[in-house]
Amino acid sequence: MELTGWVKNYDWGKQGIHSAVAQLAMANDPDFTLNEQETYAEMWMGTHICGVSIVKETGETLDRVLKKDLPYLFKVLSIRKALSIQVHPNKCEAERLHKERPDVYKDDNHKPEMSIAITPFLALVGFQPIEDIIDYIDEFQPLTHLIGEDAICELHEKRNSESLKNCYEIVMRADEAAIAKCIKAIAKDKAGLKRNKLFDIFNKVNDDFPGDVGILCLFFLNLVRLRPGQAIYLGANEIHAYLDGECVECMACSDNVIRAGLTPKYKDVEQLISSVIFNGASADAKLFIPYRIDDTVQVFAPPVDDFAVIHVAIKSSACAYKLQIQAYGSILLTLTGKRILKLKTDQGIKEITLSRGSIVYIPVEAAPEIEFLKGEDCGEDFTAYIATYNYFRRA
Ligand SMILES: [Zn+2]
Repeated sequence: MELTGWVKNYDWGKQGIHSAVAQLAMANDPDFTLNEQETYAEMWMGTHICGVSIVKETGETLDRVLKKDLPYLFKVLSIRKALSIQVHPNKCEAERLHKERPDVYKDDNHKPEMSIAITPFLALVGFQPIEDIIDYIDEFQPLTHLIGEDAICELHEKRNSESLKNCYEIVMRADEAAIAKCIKAIAKDKAGLKRNKLFDIFNKVNDDFPGDVGILCLFFLNLVRLRPGQAIYLGANEIHAYLDGECVECMACSDNVIRAGLTPKYKDVEQLISSVIFNGASADAKLFIPYRIDDTVQVFAPPVDDFAVIHVAIKSSACAYKLQIQAYGSILLTLTGKRILKLKTDQGIKEITLSRGSIVYIPVEAAPEIEFLKGEDCGEDFTAYIATYNYFRRA
């Protein structure tokens, strides 16, 4: 089944044709009308109630046709302006939060997520090593003043999660005027920001969210730069914020977010502080390393059952390629090139032409293999991502 994804026009998305979401939506659907003034932030592929995919041939929703929900949600994100400082609760917390405050926490599922860059991608992920945070706090005096001597002394002495938590809490709980004053003062220290390679990102985030406490998170969290094809995995309670760039993202089928900065949405600082993991680690440790099946295929298999992502890259000159898959419903998104997808369905063998923007639901019946045939015109090298249930975990 060929699908159309659900496009979300959040304010933080890239504008008009500059957005990969808009480009893919246009390529997918000839009836899609591009509005150059509009921002195109996300495309959702799956059965989540807030953006269920449509089956092209019949116009029905995917959940109706499948008569079930998929365990994962697959997305493309196109980010012009930072997304909130956030964590996703674990399954237990998610259930409790939903029960206690269903108006804020509408979803009772956990939301581990994986982002794979498709353009250069910038994100804040997890706390930096404590030594690095201490260096920042000591160097940027306005931050030293905001946190106060006692907490900083304790951080110097103990250098543990507890003393880090204490400092971070003071910053996150400070009143708005004190935060704004601190940020203003740091902004004046151009040399210091430049020396620490924070000048551009500090100013960008401060322009987008003037005086927001999330800007100060730049001194606590790892700034991770991904090249296309590189990935990060965010397990439960790992603090993060996506800042810039484009990615495919796969997650458990959920929309469960605890936010604490860089957002006009509801902030729940107390819940974030009580949930978040305060272990410091280096930016390199935050990269998620896929494993290679062969020259063509890599698998991103996180430590949860809900989802995995398969990356397929076939040279335009290469012949047909057979991909082994297991009997779970999967969703394929084509980014570049052309191929003919040959697969088994309950109506027999089908051939579907894949090109940029094609989204195909691969049914259970297609197992144990699907084939990427070479057509007359292959165009550039073929690349696609396939979201599926994480059956690799049991392999
Ligand atoms: Zn997230």
